[in-house]
Amino acid sequence: MSQSWTNWGRNEHAAVDRLHRPERASQVAEIVGTAHKEQRKVKVVGSGHSFTGIAAPAQDQLRLDALTGIVAVDDTRRRVRVRAGTTLRDLNPLLWDLGLAMPNLGDIDAQTIAGAISTGTHGTGAGLQGLAAAVCGLTLVTADGTEVRCSAEEDPGLFQAARVGLGALGVLTEVELQLVPAYRLRAVERPAELMPFLESVQEVADTDRHVEFYWFPHTERVLTKRNTVVDALHPGRPLPRWREELDDHLLSNVVFEGINRLVAWRPSLAPRVNQVSARALSAREFTDRSYRVFCTRRTVRFTESEYAVPRAALVPALLELKAWIEANDEFLPFPVEVRFAAADDIWLSTAYERDTAYLAVHQYHRMDNRRYFAAFEAIARSHSGRPHWGKLHTLGAAELDESYPRFGEFVDVRNRLDPDRVFTNAYLDRVLGP
Ligand SMILES: Cc1cc2nc3c(=O)[nH]c(=O)nc-3n(C[C@H](O)[C@H](O)[C@H](O)COP(=O)(O)OP(=O)(O)OC[C@H]3O[C@@H](n4cnc5c(N)ncnc54)[C@H](O)[C@@H]3O)c2cc1C
Repeated sequence: MSQSWTNWGRNEHAAVDRLHRPERASQVAEIVGTAHKEQRKVKVVGSGHSFTGIAAPAQDQLRLDALTGIVAVDDTRRRVRVRAGTTLRDLNPLLWDLGLAMPNLGDIDAQTIAGAISTGTHGTGAGLQGLAAAVCGLTLVTADGTEVRCSAEEDPGLFQAARVGLGALGVLTEVELQLVPAYRLRAVERPAELMPFLESVQEVADTDRHVEFYWFPHTERVLTKRNTVVDALHPGRPLPRWREELDDHLLSNVVFEGINRLVAWRPSLAPRVNQVSARALSAREFTDRSYRVFCTRRTVRFTESEYAVPRAALVPALLELKAWIEANDEFLPFPVEVRFAAADDIWLSTAYERDTAYLAVHQYHRMDNRRYFAAFEAIARSHSGRPHWGKLHTLGAAELDESYPRFGEFVDVRNRLDPDRVFTNAYLDRVLGP
């Protein structure tokens, strides 16, 4: 009997013919080898937190939730080998106990390590790269059931392709990570006026380690978030429990859900509601373990599109988007999020060879996102934007080939490793070609 699968955003659904939950890497090889012989498609899923159909199974689904945990630790080089199904939520405290940490993280920790790197998941920090840049070695099972290892020294071409591999090259079974000593962050969150903040935003991004901001459509207000590393001996000053509950649970989730339901019922209330939300934001400061500062709980469901633009294009692109929203009566209860990353050398990374600003737009999951996301995409594309692989966009292989200088080489690796397209699905057929 087939089962059904849906992603976190509830905008992607698929039937699963056969569900496999291997407990050992050798079982992954057997499952993939058999599927290949029987001409079946196999899609490995992480936590299902991509908004695109990148993780949707065409036939069989492979879940690695029994393939988790740290396999080996190299104290001297600060490296760990992790089973691919490990979630960041489980990994971060384990690393802390080892005196280690990821150099950067995104804003949630529900993803598996393999799923996060495969779509180019990133956090913010003009001097820092996405999560896949911390990968120094990979083990994957390819379409014929063979286990392959790669790193910068061992099969470097495969390594450049497979760190952000879109799940198209094989099933990752282990990921080796280059970590940094565990660190605490001091978080400073403050409301500000949009236009004066935009005048200094590039300088601010170069000053603090992690800078991001949220602009509330229909207002001239932003919430800025700036995190800096504190001395290793700092004891930490986390938010009091009641404040964490109030801000991160009650206001960010419970009240925000109510606001979104209200706006879904009567969209024209969005401007007034956003004025109130933006005014209600108060400044706060706290110091905590890095992963606790980066990652928050998100229970209000939404859909999202995010584009990476060259840093210099950030302000013009954001102002064009603002003008479009104002001219088109698009009612939006969710803020626009802006983040930064340094250039890297990973073939399908959104920050490949360019310093990047990310612009992300969201819509409540019960509201139609099409007109807004289409306008956003057109603006981002006109600034040479590259879409996040796990967030909504409409581009196909021809356009992506123009955006990524090494796209052709990635496709060559795919053709070599998976000529019969065991790992494909409709999304991969669209973005990489059939
Ligand atoms: C609330 C929310 C917040 C988010 N915040 C951020 C953020 O701050 N920054 C950011 O960049 N993104 C963010 N995202 C997007 C998210 O990080 C990515 O979509 C990520 O890929 C999800 O990881 P996952 O484990 O759920 O992978 P899935 O969505 O399940 O899968 C993604 C891809 O990885 C592949 N994959 C999974 N496991 C393996 C494996 N073992 N071997 C090979 N391929 C594999 C799948 O086949 C698929 O192609 C957010 C998403 C949500 C819903």
